[in-house]
Amino acid sequence: MKKQLTLFVFVIGTTLLRAADDRVVINGVEGYTNTPMLPGGQWHVHDPNRPQPAVVTPGSVFSAQAAPPSDAVVLFNGRDMTGWVDLKGQPAPWDVVDGAMVAKKSDIRTTQEFGDLQLHVEFCEPVPATGSGQGRGNSGVFFMGKYELQVLDCYDNKTYPDGQTAALYGQHPPLVNACRPPGEWQTYDAVFTAPRFTADGELKSPAWITVFHNGVVVQNHQAYMGPTGHKISPKYVPQAATGPLGLQFHNNPTRFRNIWVRPIQMPDEP
Ligand code: MG
Repeated sequence: MKKQLTLFVFVIGTTLLRAADDRVVINGVEGYTNTPMLPGGQWHVHDPNRPQPAVVTPGSVFSAQAAPPSDAVVLFNGRDMTGWVDLKGQPAPWDVVDGAMVAKKSDIRTTQEFGDLQLHVEFCEPVPATGSGQGRGNSGVFFMGKYELQVLDCYDNKTYPDGQTAALYGQHPPLVNACRPPGEWQTYDAVFTAPRFTADGELKSPAWITVFHNGVVVQNHQAYMGPTGHKISPKYVPQAATGPLGLQFHNNPTRFRNIWVRPIQMPDEP
């Protein structure tokens, strides 16, 4: 029995070491330095050496509880998960508590699809804050189901900059860290432009995004390098002109409310 237990501990210990030795901690920031280089050749994907965005304390109120404009598509009714499904198209498994949806079990997406849009969404990070780095209040907003705008609790919680709150995940850190403390409602107001492709599948223009986090600009007409992902070298492949809006379940019960979009149209496009 003792022999079996020793063997068990040894196997578990080895597994943990293997899982962890992929990551490095530099100046208290966990990340990776064995990942692909991002275009420009200065930083690895999820590089802990990349400078931490400065902390900015947002003003007390910006767009919290903003009422949707008349032409908005309201994506959450505050009562149930109507209009949302999991990634297999089954009913969304998230709970609705006190007018907010609570992340649970799996990623979800809207049944409606969008291209260019204006987005308003509010989120609230779990209290008490538990976990650290990417393990604290992780979720995400996925434009067209492919382009993540990171949701994370980075209030007094460092992580690799291209994975922190309002990062274009794995690609571009926010300009500043404008997080409110966990337990307080926060806002994203974003303008997203879908990528364009030529008839023969060449990239004509990338996806662009401008984001205000709690009223502070954190992405300024920033291009996505391609669909986002963990430890990947981003690359565009031709895709449909529209896609769903997605929300991530990343093992944390992050809450969302007041989600609406306004599809927008380029003046020179039909
Ligand atoms: Mg995420």
